[in-house]
Amino acid sequence: MPSPLDNILALASAPEAVLTGDDVAEWPTEFFDLVSALGLVRAAAPAKHAECDQCAEGHIELVHRQRGKGDAPRFFITCPEAGRVLVGVERLKRWAIDYDALATAVAKAISASATVESLVAARAWRLGALVVTEQSYSVVLFRGAAMADSADVLTRAFSTLARSKSILLAVDESVDLIPDSGEFAAVIALASVVRIRDKKVWIDQSRIEAAIPATMEIADKPVVDENARSLTYRNKTCRFSARAEDQFALFKRLNRRPNQPVQFNTMRQPGDVFGDYAVADVSIRSAVRRLRARFEKAQMGRLARCLRTADRYAILDLSHYDSTSH
Ligand SMILES: [Zn+2]
Repeated sequence: MPSPLDNILALASAPEAVLTGDDVAEWPTEFFDLVSALGLVRAAAPAKHAECDQCAEGHIELVHRQRGKGDAPRFFITCPEAGRVLVGVERLKRWAIDYDALATAVAKAISASATVESLVAARAWRLGALVVTEQSYSVVLFRGAAMADSADVLTRAFSTLARSKSILLAVDESVDLIPDSGEFAAVIALASVVRIRDKKVWIDQSRIEAAIPATMEIADKPVVDENARSLTYRNKTCRFSARAEDQFALFKRLNRRPNQPVQFNTMRQPGDVFGDYAVADVSIRSAVRRLRARFEKAQMGRLARCLRTADRYAILDLSHYDSTSH
């Protein structure tokens, strides 16, 4: 079912988040009334150009203004075929989407007492915190996944926030374009959790909570020390020499999202752990096997048994082993 918000979310990565009179004319009337009542759009300067609707070309022309005799001014464009084409004042109206207002509305829907903090102007906002199974997560709204600077905007937005303790709500309809999405506790398309109910923005909080994988087990996550090139798990520490840098990188990759399968194909993507080499599935499996042997040797048998590979993925499955241990 279409939502009044669809048209707003669809423009999330557009360079100019502006609705034209022609856009709005295609909506059901109540949609526009709703989004303006919610303050999600505000009047912007009228269009200086308009599309010709009197010939098949659909060409865009500069709008001229004609003073009527004491009447309201009239607007027209010039068409090589149809000559002077009048443009109704409704068609020239434009509205800017107010993403700050959207952030506020979503924050209020999550918690009535929420205060919104702008992290990167017009692109990223901290909406407040959400507690899921005794763990507090920052909820961050992010717009413009498809824009060229999205990775840079995320870096600035998360300069003081931990990504692993943050839920990223993407205004864009597709979350596939979010850089390094695996680093966040969860990445959720706003469209999948937002509705308008009783003329208010409403958020399906249970769907946000469900997107956070196995939070309890992750509290038991191995702790990596980059400087010491080591990891500590249940009071045991395993160090990696400079020569074992690749093994360390593989472990960190799987530890980024424990209990979640990491596809071999994902690890082979540029910038990922095996991105620089053409590594076959069989080599990834044997790399995991060597890592397991290293943990056994370091008397970290439990951690070794949590490392598994399947046909096309590897996983650090802390939860699976919990259910079978004694
Ligand atoms: Zn024309």
